[in-house]
Amino acid sequence: MPKEIALGWIDENEKHIIKISDKAWKYAELGLLEYKTSELLSKEIETHGFQLERGVAGMPTAFVASWGSGKPVIGVMGELDALAGVSQKAVPYKDPVVEGAPGHGCGHNIHGTSGMAGAIAIKTAMEEKRLPGTVKFYGCPAEETLVGKVFMVRDGLFDGVDACLSHHPSSANTAGTGSSNAMNSVKFHFYGKTAHAAGDPENGISALDAVELMSNGVNFMREHIIEKARVHYVTEVGGGQPNVVPAYARTWFYVRAPEREQVEYIYDWVLQIADGADKMARTTHEVEFLTGCYNELPNKGLSELVVGNMREIGAPVHTEEEIEFAKKMNESIPPVSKKEGLRKSERPGWEKMLDQLFDERVLDDYRAGKVGAGSTDVSDVSWVTPTIEFGTACYMLGTPGHSWQVTAQSGMSIGHKGLLFASKVIATSGLDLLTKPDRLKAVRDEWEERLAGRVYKPPIPADLAPPLDQLKKD
Ligand SMILES: [Zn+2]
Repeated sequence: MPKEIALGWIDENEKHIIKISDKAWKYAELGLLEYKTSELLSKEIETHGFQLERGVAGMPTAFVASWGSGKPVIGVMGELDALAGVSQKAVPYKDPVVEGAPGHGCGHNIHGTSGMAGAIAIKTAMEEKRLPGTVKFYGCPAEETLVGKVFMVRDGLFDGVDACLSHHPSSANTAGTGSSNAMNSVKFHFYGKTAHAAGDPENGISALDAVELMSNGVNFMREHIIEKARVHYVTEVGGGQPNVVPAYARTWFYVRAPEREQVEYIYDWVLQIADGADKMARTTHEVEFLTGCYNELPNKGLSELVVGNMREIGAPVHTEEEIEFAKKMNESIPPVSKKEGLRKSERPGWEKMLDQLFDERVLDDYRAGKVGAGSTDVSDVSWVTPTIEFGTACYMLGTPGHSWQVTAQSGMSIGHKGLLFASKVIATSGLDLLTKPDRLKAVRDEWEERLAGRVYKPPIPADLAPPLDQLKKD
């Protein structure tokens, strides 16, 4: 059976898969700078006979690895980037490898490796059983800054894919049909004129005034937009010193909402407010569009397929040693944060889980119709091909997102368990899609129905280049 071959390959290569994940964990490179991680994963998959396209969509660290030919085409995604400031050793108390350095605080070392291992396992079974079709593994940079997949989708790299699988480390084994917020990320550069702020303020034009007026305008707008929208901003540059009227100021906005068209509506209003700020402060301004993304289009067919495979494989259980590690780490998580985290997760039975360390169940879909506040560029893929991003338990309950606790667990056996389980779920689900045309057709029919005739229009301008130097800016 193809599935047994794939699972057998993962079991035999367990140590090697973990080694790759741990290497990526050590590299811990920020978005668009994942040179070593990209090379690690792309070279590894190349040794298994995949054809490599490197540096795709204008990003040196993005790649596509393909094996096989013809239909169906199954995509698997793997993310590469780490987060700033969450460097941490694989120990249950806060102890950075390098203070303030990046770390895998979102577990993307596991994300990238589970996808790669799953894709190789699918290929191993396809080769041995001479199954028709193509498997593609996508090395996706800069998820945290919502860049990688948005540019890859815009440049057509997911065209012709029949369905796409993705795994994200989590504290639950779950493949839900919830969604995420669509978003725009944009900077406003305001220009004025310096003057002595006491001596001749009448000759000055304050760029900071424009930033403040814009913020005020947006805060008045808030009352009249849909409740579920989220608009947040930071003033990046507000001037030098009080006795000089600032000639330059800069503010950075995120606009989020459950549907892409709602983001566009609110964003258009924000642009008008920036024009208004110019009128009031007599400044001029430039808009720097950084990136945008869609809301996730869920797929019940894919959710059921993945959950079915999770149950068949069986979710990992934890050893005494891992329980001891978790107990120690639990001391760093205030009970109130754990409670609120569990409440927010809305997982079934959360009220009784306050004293529990792990959730080892495989959960039925409990997020149907719900929209998470965050945003992900996986969503953009979901508008061009049926897509699911499922979670496996790589962390203990109550682990805060983007934290040193995530980094720690992503580099030791608790994370490794979730990694191997996820690789198996990707392999078996991919093989189901390759070998069960009825299942794939149902998934695609559902996707068409949810699209309801809407066509994906890239949220980023056609000529926008990936912000390769964004992380080096002031
Ligand atoms: Zn993530």
